[in-house]
Amino acid sequence: MELDEIGSRALRWALANALEHEGKADLKAVIRKLMAEMPELRPRAKEVRQIVEQVVEEVNRLSPAEQLAKLEELGPLEVVRKREAKGLPELPGVDRYPKVVTRFAPNPNGPLHIGHVRAALLSHEYARMYGGKFILRFEDTNPANAVLEMYDLIRRDLRWLGIEWDEEHMQSDRLEIYYRYAEGLISSGKAYVCTCDAPSFRRLRDRGEPCPCRELPADEQIGRWRGMLGGEFGEEKAVVRIKTDLRHPNPAVRDWPALRVVTSPHPRVGERYRVWPLYNFSVAIDDHEMGVTHVIRGKEHLVNEMRQRTLFEHLGWTPPEALQYGRLTMAGAMLSKTQTIRGVREGKFLGYDDPRLATIAALRRRGFSPEAVRQVILDLGLTPVDAALSWETLYAYNRRLIDAKANRYFFVASPVELLVRGVPSIEEVRLRLHPSYPERGERVLPLLREGDVLTAYLAGEDASHLEVGTIFRLKDLMNVELRSKGPPLEGDFRGLELMDVPKLQWVSAGGVEVEVLMPDASLVRGLAEPAVAGLGIGEVVQFERFGFVRVDSLRPRIAVVYGHR
Ligand code: GLU
Repeated sequence: MELDEIGSRALRWALANALEHEGKADLKAVIRKLMAEMPELRPRAKEVRQIVEQVVEEVNRLSPAEQLAKLEELGPLEVVRKREAKGLPELPGVDRYPKVVTRFAPNPNGPLHIGHVRAALLSHEYARMYGGKFILRFEDTNPANAVLEMYDLIRRDLRWLGIEWDEEHMQSDRLEIYYRYAEGLISSGKAYVCTCDAPSFRRLRDRGEPCPCRELPADEQIGRWRGMLGGEFGEEKAVVRIKTDLRHPNPAVRDWPALRVVTSPHPRVGERYRVWPLYNFSVAIDDHEMGVTHVIRGKEHLVNEMRQRTLFEHLGWTPPEALQYGRLTMAGAMLSKTQTIRGVREGKFLGYDDPRLATIAALRRRGFSPEAVRQVILDLGLTPVDAALSWETLYAYNRRLIDAKANRYFFVASPVELLVRGVPSIEEVRLRLHPSYPERGERVLPLLREGDVLTAYLAGEDASHLEVGTIFRLKDLMNVELRSKGPPLEGDFRGLELMDVPKLQWVSAGGVEVEVLMPDASLVRGLAEPAVAGLGIGEVVQFERFGFVRVDSLRPRIAVVYGHR
């Protein structure tokens, strides 16, 4: 390992550690992280320590904002292999609370994908680890983008991942609560109704100056607030703002907007409300009201967290402990909710479970084991370092879990007919459902024979590599020498004994037509051995030398979805 590489990995861990500890990275913790990631460095401990010391010193000289910027600049760290499952680190401040309470707070505005479930899996895992409570809360206070079918899809995805929640809430049922707090804050002068147009407000805010609405007396503010509720203001004509320090170093935090007018109907509660809280307002109130002790969220919410903290201060509440994780990217996978929804609506995708998507629904349809998804995500852990996951890594996790479970079958894609002459009189072949588990029993592959001529089908791809004179083996059956490329292919029987020649899957009598939906949404058609007709929907099996597939439907023909090799 080059020194540069050690230095750059150490730098990421140092930055991540610093961000978790108020800007000061801890030398020992950084060395531990680095060694866990690269155990091969252990014999070079002394040298590594020197490098890390220098890096930590540099990092600790930066402000948290600079540290965050630097971490972003470094880009994601590739997740390449299974690290030893090492459990999650302890949560901070656990002793201060009688019970750990965590929550997953999805916006029902799109399907969950592999990146989203990080918050869900970690929050759930921590609640269970401490015998605490786990809450599911739908954050649906934007009537314009909440989608009705997402509530159930999200519930289904979570259950599939093995996540059970102790409580469920929907923010669209809690508007009266948010109104009560809004009114209280307005009457006590901690919030105000602002009717400035957005650019003028921004101009003043960026200079750290109050807008004319800010100082209006409380009764006038309350009048405006009632006006908002009563329909006097149209969209974008009035917002409730939370007062903050107007000189807050980050202008985006100054007097942030908390509630606004939205006139589009909400998919759950229709037109019952026209004033809706924005994310930071409802989230802070709910986290407090629901007794949430630890919030686990993406680091893109760091500025939001600062906003929320100002509301906690106004209300005299202690904010929950907040922990951030980095972004997850996945090459070749589209992880944008908006684009996914648009693509599905425009018919570009087959649905939310289109195999081109990295949604949980798509992974389920492709036959991934939920445990594989869980392990990948928990192995990423809880650090603000960005991570790049690849399909290959996900496949590797999944393969380890399903290889022993999936029974084996022969399948030939784009089949090509083969006639073999001179075959002895065998009626059928019996093969184990799984080579390592004889107790699971066998399947039967009947042979189509007329006299001494056997008819079999080979995969088009395999057939294309055969030359006249080549000897190959119909796997677990017999050896054949190719005599003519036909069509049909013709060959001669060359014995039953195992020979060191290419072994090809085949299908003979009773083959069933199967359609395979591939990861790029293309369709591959082929023939499978007869036993495949007896599989059930949802079963995951391995088509030998082709890949793992999940049975998706049985009628009008058998359709399976491809997982991976
Ligand atoms: N609804 C927010 C989201 O999905 C929750 C973020 C948070 O944890 O506060 O991004």
